[in-house]
Amino acid sequence: MKISGFDKDTALEKMNVAGSVIFEGDLLHTYLSLRLLDEIPVVEYEITPDFPYTRSFSPVCPDCGEEAVYKVNETSDNLVKCGCYCENCKEWVFSTISPKSAIDDTKYYIEASLERVDNEVKEKIEQKLNELYNKRIEKNKIVVLDVARNIEWLLGIMELYNIHYEIVPPYPHRVP
Ligand SMILES: [Zn+2]
Repeated sequence: MKISGFDKDTALEKMNVAGSVIFEGDLLHTYLSLRLLDEIPVVEYEITPDFPYTRSFSPVCPDCGEEAVYKVNETSDNLVKCGCYCENCKEWVFSTISPKSAIDDTKYYIEASLERVDNEVKEKIEQKLNELYNKRIEKNKIVVLDVARNIEWLLGIMELYNIHYEIVPPYPHRVP
């Protein structure tokens, strides 16, 4: 089972290195993260905000009783439908529509020079960058490695202020 770029082994490795691991996500992804945690002998975990369902909640098709599978469908250029799907009935048990970038687990590498950037903008960028895990802030340079949902704001700011940046692989989503 693999969620948000984590499988059981990556999660364990991260926990060994950092002492803890943080999963983020909407209701569906939180549910899936909890399923992942079931596979790991975790001492304790916290969920914020409280998970609104008791853990007996499981994605079973209400019509035929088969276990539903996690499925992602493209609905348009920019949106995907993801959720739990009953292969037997060919029906969604539940689903959400999200921007494609929200479920993209590719790690993007960004490099940008802030040399000619206004101090105020620079501060804004550096402040928000502190929330990210894999980043480096040097004198006038930033280096970031993260998934689309975590870097969208950064790309947005850089587009807005015409800051030149390199991103690998090329960013396939619309910059907000
Ligand atoms: Zn069914």
